[in-house]
Amino acid sequence: MQVDYSAKSVTISVGELADFRTGPGQRLQRRPGRWRTQVGIEWHQEQEKESRQSGEKGRYEVPLKVNWPYKGWLFNIQGRIDQWIEQKHDVLIREIKTTSHELPAETDELVNVYKSYFSQLGTYLALLRQKSEENLNFTGELLFINIYDGIRQHISDDQHCIDLFNTQLEILWSFLENQKKRQKTFKSQTPIIAYQSLREGQETIQESLSKATDTSPIVLFQAPTGFGKTGVALEYSLNQVIQGNYQRILYLTSKGSGQTQVMEQLNQMLPKDAGLSSLQIRNKDELCGSPRCICNPEDLRLRVGDRWKNCGLSPYSFLESPTNQPNRFRETGERESICPYELMRATMPYAELWVADVNYLFSPQNRSLFFQQPGFDLSKSLLILDEAHNLPSRVADVFSYQVSHDVVEQLHAELQFANGHPAIRKALEQWLDLLEKIEPSEGLEDYVNYDARDCAETLAAALQHHPLNSKLLPEETLMAIWELSDTNLFFRLEYLERLVWSSKAGLLDLSCLDAPTEIGSILQQSPQVIAMSATLEPQPYFLKQFGLLESKSKPAWVEASTPWRNKAYDSAVDVRVDTRYMSRDRHALTTVETLAHCVQSSSKPVVSFFPSYKYAKTIQKTFENKFPHLTLRLQDRGGSPEQHAQFIEDTLGEADLIFLILGSAFAEGIDHLGGKIDLAVIVGPALPEVNALQKKRMRARKDLGQDAAFKEVYQIPGMQKINQALGRLVRGPGQTARILFHCSRFAQKSYQSLLLADFQTEARIAVTSDLHSWLNQS
Ligand code: SF4
Repeated sequence: MQVDYSAKSVTISVGELADFRTGPGQRLQRRPGRWRTQVGIEWHQEQEKESRQSGEKGRYEVPLKVNWPYKGWLFNIQGRIDQWIEQKHDVLIREIKTTSHELPAETDELVNVYKSYFSQLGTYLALLRQKSEENLNFTGELLFINIYDGIRQHISDDQHCIDLFNTQLEILWSFLENQKKRQKTFKSQTPIIAYQSLREGQETIQESLSKATDTSPIVLFQAPTGFGKTGVALEYSLNQVIQGNYQRILYLTSKGSGQTQVMEQLNQMLPKDAGLSSLQIRNKDELCGSPRCICNPEDLRLRVGDRWKNCGLSPYSFLESPTNQPNRFRETGERESICPYELMRATMPYAELWVADVNYLFSPQNRSLFFQQPGFDLSKSLLILDEAHNLPSRVADVFSYQVSHDVVEQLHAELQFANGHPAIRKALEQWLDLLEKIEPSEGLEDYVNYDARDCAETLAAALQHHPLNSKLLPEETLMAIWELSDTNLFFRLEYLERLVWSSKAGLLDLSCLDAPTEIGSILQQSPQVIAMSATLEPQPYFLKQFGLLESKSKPAWVEASTPWRNKAYDSAVDVRVDTRYMSRDRHALTTVETLAHCVQSSSKPVVSFFPSYKYAKTIQKTFENKFPHLTLRLQDRGGSPEQHAQFIEDTLGEADLIFLILGSAFAEGIDHLGGKIDLAVIVGPALPEVNALQKKRMRARKDLGQDAAFKEVYQIPGMQKINQALGRLVRGPGQTARILFHCSRFAQKSYQSLLLADFQTEARIAVTSDLHSWLNQS
């Protein structure tokens, strides 16, 4: 459906109009497969043959296109009529519908289950009766055919069908009118302002963003943590919607914790009467609270139907305030026995701003949530990517899979028990044969690659041609089989940078290393992208990762001005130690003593960042043996954003020394350290672990030469983690931090130049007395 609100016109297909609904609908989780389409096509052909043989004077697959004016709107409705049978006194419009429903059935029952089929027929009849120039008389018939036994049932009820068409038209019209009215309200809205008093450096940022968006559809916006880029980007984009330049804003984050801050920011800046609404999109597991969403489609909570209307729920009630929305869906869902995810899904069309995970746009398996929403059009949406430096790895994860022998064996057993189709069972057996032979390897033989591709294709083809027995198989099994068939995508998308390897016996790792083509193609579908982060340098590296290196329009660059950060950091490089894997044990004692000196010289806790948990643990042990009187706390693994924040709050009050891991949520996800510490130690560059994936990346870049490839694969990602962590230590005017880079590698130009300008330094600690003087200088 395409809507032009200013011209008040809609282009829509007969099927879309008949299916159009607001409010929660049947969940589209199961994939019917191509076999179902094929069965439908065969019955259509069979029925056409029968019609011809019986001597009916017919035309088949007749295209129809009609402009239908309705209450000030123009509906351009298009469709294809199955059969047009000329009879003595009239023309019979016959729509053929294949079903697995037992026939014959009560008409009311069929109307109840297949309302949209009746509405489709009604649409054709109404359009033809209006269009007919030759005063033809049209009547209609729905012909249901059971796909298993071929039993047929003819139903004719023209008036009821036309009534359904009129109802659908009215529903769509109300929706469009409502949206149009809302757009009018925004237009009279005074411009939205994020910050009542501007911080030094923020005064000109809206102007810079406007200029940049005038010159390029893709803007890279680099601003340090604490600058207020969330508010700045929201202010710019909400005002764009008010001015009618875009229909919707997609604010996509790569970490769930970031979304809460966005909703809080919106709560502060959106006036209550703004007329603009924002919605936080969460997944089923998070909304429902069940460990994994496994509802059977028959579950009552999904059979929402008229309960949405009857229980008086309005989508706007969920949108009243941007905060606490997931809880509102959860509580209402529980109270009304409606799936909370369905409630959220039904609310989406009424919000102009969606705050969601990047997966909903970049994952082919998840993006239907956006694209099936009435009125959603990416080409009319402004896209904001928060923490955009994480996007390449998130998208690569979307296209990566693990296939385990144990899991496939379990699926096969369940399929056998449910008497699943032999072709699907055979496809799983083919996977098992391959997986049995898999031994750990960083690069499997080529034949494994080909065999795996074959297995993936065979299973996908089997599922396209034969149904899964959804009555006998648990929902989790159905989903797992479909997910296994998704591995076909890994092999089909030749442009992905991929590696087939094995991290343990019986386990096949299908790893996507980078997906720039995929990212670039999505970004270019939006008329305006603002990709923002504290670390988007080196620019050519990110442009390559975003698939924009060859892009026709050069992305525009906006850099926030933050005069208050000038001289906020004081750094030095400790060249006494080498923290490379082979040498770090030799220097462990120096590391421990350095940390103790730091603790003694600081009145606040000292934070030390490590490249890995293992390294941090080793140093922790030595430190605690040597300095038992000092309190050291090492971050936990995992945990929720709330637990992370609690850990930092607790340890800041009790510890002398806090160990955090670079790249973890503690180093990148929480912003509670700003102003609370004044000394941080970075123990070595956080280069990615040397493993099969990095080796493959190095091989793929051999044309660049060893140094350039090493820089792309190891140094840039490693130093980016450091830039991210350090950026969070100074979040506002007046805050300062001292940084000790504890490894001689930081003095090398190739590492030093990858630090953001604020952190670069020429100061060196060559002997212990240098450390004392650096620590003691005020
Ligand atoms: S009710 Fe819960 S478990 Fe069922 S479909 Fe909805 S989110 Fe999933």
